[in-house]
Amino acid sequence: MSTILIVEDETAIAELEKDYLELSNFDVTIENDGCEGAARALNEDFDLIILDLMLPNMDGFEICKMIREKKNTPIIMVTAKKDDIDKIRGLGLGADDYITKPFSPSELVARVKAHLARYKRLTTSGMPENEMIEIRGLKIDKTARRVYINGEEKTFTTKEFDLLTFLAQHPNHVFSKEELFKEIWEMESVGDIATVTVHIKKIREKIEKSTSKPQYIETIWGVGYRFKV
Ligand code: CA
Repeated sequence: MSTILIVEDETAIAELEKDYLELSNFDVTIENDGCEGAARALNEDFDLIILDLMLPNMDGFEICKMIREKKNTPIIMVTAKKDDIDKIRGLGLGADDYITKPFSPSELVARVKAHLARYKRLTTSGMPENEMIEIRGLKIDKTARRVYINGEEKTFTTKEFDLLTFLAQHPNHVFSKEELFKEIWEMESVGDIATVTVHIKKIREKIEKSTSKPQYIETIWGVGYRFKV
């Protein structure tokens, strides 16, 4: 769900915008004060910001400038006067769009959707990023199914990769050999829980500096294994 911050001091307008955006399944937050709005915009990760121009304590010009110094979040500026749009453009503050009051809420929603879609295209170029797990020098690229230790790639078999990834995705959770066997080898008849021990040994040889003092996969005697964080 996309998150939207509305910085608007006129409560009735802010609530109206919120109602319409929520109908389109956006998660909406309102700030009525300029300083508070700026702080939230800078400290939290919203997907889009709707920013009124005239606000108590800090105006929209300044907030827009502050956000742009740090973030590329799409900003739609709201003004009460058409003349202000030229002024905003002239200042080159980096707002993505401008809308004048009074506006129809559905117009606002349409613009919000357009800017979110545009921003998504720009940031992802249509390709999702590889899903990574990174813990103290160990990097698991889940998408490419590759494992790196301090930048150096290590070759893993399918089951070794599955076992390491499963443990790394559940850090600090102690699993018995039976549980791990069931999880990784579930549908296969060959092998038994000793297979787990053999695979853990092979994984350690690849990722641990010292297999007798493992830093990643810890043996919990009499119970099983745990991935340390
Ligand atoms: Ca205002």
